[in-house]
Amino acid sequence: MAFQTVRGFHDIFGEDLKRFRYVTSVIRQILASYNFEEIITPVVEFAELFERSVGEVTDIVQKEMFVFEDRKGRLLALRPEGTAGVVRAYIQHKLYAQKPYHKLFYEGPMFRYERPQAGRYRQFHQIGAEVFGVADPSADAEIIEIVSRVLKALNVPAHIEINSIGCKVCRPAYREALKEFLEGVSEKLCKDCQDRKERNPLRVLDCKVETCKSAVSEAPKVVDFLCDECRAHYERVKEFLSSLGIDFKENPRLVRGLDYYTRTVFEAVSPKTGNAIIAGGRYDYLVEDLGGPPTPALGFAVGVERVASLVEVPCEKEDLYFVIPFGDVQDYALEVAKALRDEGKKVELSYRGGSLRKQLDFANRIGARYAVIVGEDEKKGGYITVKDMESGDQKKVWVGKKV
Ligand code: ATP
Ligand code: MG
Repeated sequence: MAFQTVRGFHDIFGEDLKRFRYVTSVIRQILASYNFEEIITPVVEFAELFERSVGEVTDIVQKEMFVFEDRKGRLLALRPEGTAGVVRAYIQHKLYAQKPYHKLFYEGPMFRYERPQAGRYRQFHQIGAEVFGVADPSADAEIIEIVSRVLKALNVPAHIEINSIGCKVCRPAYREALKEFLEGVSEKLCKDCQDRKERNPLRVLDCKVETCKSAVSEAPKVVDFLCDECRAHYERVKEFLSSLGIDFKENPRLVRGLDYYTRTVFEAVSPKTGNAIIAGGRYDYLVEDLGGPPTPALGFAVGVERVASLVEVPCEKEDLYFVIPFGDVQDYALEVAKALRDEGKKVELSYRGGSLRKQLDFANRIGARYAVIVGEDEKKGGYITVKDMESGDQKKVWVGKKV
């Protein structure tokens, strides 16, 4: 049998790839306008980095990570997300010593051993940004403003949901209250949540199983437990967002599937699929937890495939010239194609024979705006015949003169 891609892994090409590249290029432009700098980190890291950052009692680490031993028996992982690696790099290269704060972005493949389904792959791509060293709520507002700008620029219908999940001071009391509540509705929870309710009760709020969703509908809300600082921070974020004119909805059940978050969390949710397409939040302890100095931080990640599936790429305006040689004129056709490319034009030289009709059909099929007909007469006379495929007009142009 011929080889196939591994389950959950995908080739990206054709129209899908055009949408994919459009999404990342628009986001890159937006991030550049906020002065974010790119960082490329490895796809492979020590597995422990993710256990310590994403959290041991999360689906990502418990069920979804591609973990393997290298030849020396070291436990490595294909990265399931981008933040941990960027934080590791920030600490490893002591970036904190260079500037009071940093704004970094990354783009690349992520790997999660999930059950493949629509919008859920085992290799998918994220483009994301991180801000290190800023505790002020204006940074939270600005990050959410970027998300809003991305949605608008790509014309993706999605709404932004936000919540605050507190800090070391206030979350323990909420955790206890939630645990107690979950004990009471225990028989309605799925098997995974039976375990989560003890070890990581907030995760239950993130469960996608319908019975769990309805079981937690009356659960205590984390916003009711926020300490004064967290409450003030959250209020400021909302004020800033309102003054920036950004639409958002408060979702008191929003917790995110990773452990490192503190205070502000947010998601952009597509009403079409019900899926989160962009997600992020603040993670004020992660840098310190991974061995760096105390550094408040925050960021977001865009699921590129999920966003790409919702965008329409604006028509490409660049005109394609399709050079059609007739007779023994391959040398001249190559010369003509080169001359056109030297003028900065996009050119394809025909490698197929056949009648002029067939060639022109093919020119249409590949979206050529102009057919450039090159025969013996053209070669002798040093000119080309250019046919405008839209109007049907045909004209002679002497090579060396601009078309
Ligand atoms: P979900 O709730 O859908 O499982 P998540 O909370 O696991 O998402 P994050 O870890 O926050 O997702 O990742 C950020 C974004 O990456 C998501 O909003 C989504 O767009 C995308 N994403 C996550 N997992 C996958 C996947 N398996 N395939 C494709 N895109 C994904
Ligand atoms: Mg997930």
